[in-house]
Amino acid sequence: MASKAEQKYFAKLADFGCILCYKLGYGEGTPSEIHHLRKAGIRANAPVIPLCPEHHRGNTGIHGLGKKAFERMYDLTEDDLLQLTHFMIGAPNG
Ligand SMILES: [Zn+2]
Ligand SMILES: [Zn+2]
Repeated sequence: MASKAEQKYFAKLADFGCILCYKLGYGEGTPSEIHHLRKAGIRANAPVIPLCPEHHRGNTGIHGLGKKAFERMYDLTEDDLLQLTHFMIGAPNG
C-alpha cells in the first residue's frame, strides 16, 4: 500500500503524463500509469516513471516489447527516462 507521500508523488507523475510521449515530442499530459523500475529489487522502494498505457503495456510499450527491445526501439534506456522524470517532475523525496 502506497504511503501518503507516494500517493502525492504518483499524482504529480500522472498529472505530467507519459514521460516517453513527452520525450518523443507528443507533448505533456498524455494519460499515464505508474511503471516501476525493477532492478532495485524491493518494489516498494523501486523508482517509478509515468508511461501511457501504450508505452507501458501496449505493443510499443516496455512490457509489450521487453526492456531490451524497448530501449533499442527508442534509443534510450529506462534510466534515461528516470533521469528525465526527475528533471521534469522532481524526485520522490526532494
Ligand atoms: Zn506514451
Ligand atoms: Zn510497468
